[in-house]
Amino acid sequence: MRRPIIAGNWKMNNTKAQTYALLNDLVPLVADAEAEVVICVPYTSIWAAGEAIKGTNIHLGAENVHWAEKGAFTGEISADMLLEQGVEYVIIGHSERRQYFGETDETVNKRVLTALAKGLKPIICVGETLEEREGGKVEEVLVRQTTEALKGVDKDQLDKIVIAYEPVWAIGTGKTATAQDANDTIAIIRNTIAKLYCPKCAEEKVRIQYGGSMNPKNAKELMAMPQIDGGLIGGASLKAVDFSQVVKYNG
Ligand code: PEP
Repeated sequence: MRRPIIAGNWKMNNTKAQTYALLNDLVPLVADAEAEVVICVPYTSIWAAGEAIKGTNIHLGAENVHWAEKGAFTGEISADMLLEQGVEYVIIGHSERRQYFGETDETVNKRVLTALAKGLKPIICVGETLEEREGGKVEEVLVRQTTEALKGVDKDQLDKIVIAYEPVWAIGTGKTATAQDANDTIAIIRNTIAKLYCPKCAEEKVRIQYGGSMNPKNAKELMAMPQIDGGLIGGASLKAVDFSQVVKYNG
């Protein structure tokens, strides 16, 4: 059984004070959630978030990690730095990183390997642009992104990995893939993992989320699909009530 996992991606939002306020509201709202709950926060909020969720069922995540141990990489952050703050999950390869900050399949792979070696659990983002979708390239793009991201990852590390299928055209736009379309596209990713490793590995070990304008209104329908194991939530994770309603998608 793949346990559902709902993760918030705060992006570049929330000061320290706002972090405390949001999490003080969120903690009681999701205390009895069946799904695994994760919040991925900016570096400057990690310490505050860790304090606010201590002893609760909410897991702590970051939004990126560098592949090097340490050194001359101005503006980057290492796995050890995140681990020291209690971080467990880390988003890697978000489309905003790919689009605005030069993230490539190769750097995604390097970050994934380091995260796993250090004991962080990667949430690896994959997804096609609108142009790629209209050009009939969805499968090609997802097979490539998934295969490249997992290069060098051992079969026994697969249960530490979460993949987020995020069609780029659906992120922050209010446009959602239909539940059926998201399900069928996620099946392509799972099938790719089955071919790279084994069908049982893909079926039992890897959780695959949907991300892209997921909110309290569409979460139930999306989560009812057999291939969808959770959500990566941007905008709706910035309001405690909205995020809690996505987390508790069954009402
Ligand atoms: C995201 O950034 O991962 C995301 C899915 O954003 P939104 O929910 O706002 O579309």
